[in-house]
Amino acid sequence: MTRIFALCNNKGGVTKTTTAVNVAYGLARAGKRVLLVDTDAQSNSTYSLLGSLDQELTLFDVLTQGAKMADILVESVGQKGLFVAPSSINLSAADLLMASAPGREHKLARALNQVKANFDYILIDTPPNLGVLTVNSFIACTDVIIPIALTTYALIGISILETTMEELRENLDVSLPIFGVVANLDDHTRLSTDVLSAVREHFQGLVFDSVIPRNIKVEEAHNQIACLFDYAPNSTGAIAYSKLVKEVLERAEGH
Ligand code: ADP
Ligand code: MG
Repeated sequence: MTRIFALCNNKGGVTKTTTAVNVAYGLARAGKRVLLVDTDAQSNSTYSLLGSLDQELTLFDVLTQGAKMADILVESVGQKGLFVAPSSINLSAADLLMASAPGREHKLARALNQVKANFDYILIDTPPNLGVLTVNSFIACTDVIIPIALTTYALIGISILETTMEELRENLDVSLPIFGVVANLDDHTRLSTDVLSAVREHFQGLVFDSVIPRNIKVEEAHNQIACLFDYAPNSTGAIAYSKLVKEVLERAEGH
């Protein structure tokens, strides 16, 4: 069965995109067939994997114009077996355009049903809000991964996310299990360490052991359209991300 992970956190700048991209690279390098679905109009993960934003057809066409999912998929520049469902800036109008569409919350799930048999893992990168695209991502996923930046107030935003997930479970009959919580941007300050303990206390065993450090190589690889594992294989960021990918595979496949 295809595992579909929605990477969600209603805040921006908390490493959703970076985590989605690096875990996608890592799973593809482990030989898995991987699709990254970019539902954020900012298109950061699309750019990071394709190096351009000039795709003729994007997720916007699938969600609002009836295009087929299979027709928008593009293989990433740097990694065989890693495909992207690209985003585009016009997705920022999706909330408005989809507001009165029938079955609007299920559009992404239906579209992924057309292609999911071709993939072992699908990762959905989501926008920094709880609008229609994030709700679509929740409904389309089999599990949720929550990336958390170890910065001030990390847990305050999380309670809004958890309330929304609880409401969706009650109203839309989805189970929305949390597959794991990724702690990110650790800079070994007192603040990071305190927030990490609070996150571990709150989510218990769901927090992955591999904590991703703040590391400039992570940002550089992302900006240079490079795979972190090739760009700076010995960096603290690459080492932490490869441990994370191992944990993801262990949790998902039990080995
Ligand atoms: P989001 O998708 O939640 O908005 P991003 O993944 O875009 O967050 O990350 C926000 C910023 O932090 C980006 O500039 C990204 O390059 C940077 N970043 C993410 N992870 C790291 C890291 N481990 N070390 C250094 N910078 C990082
Ligand atoms: Mg993002």
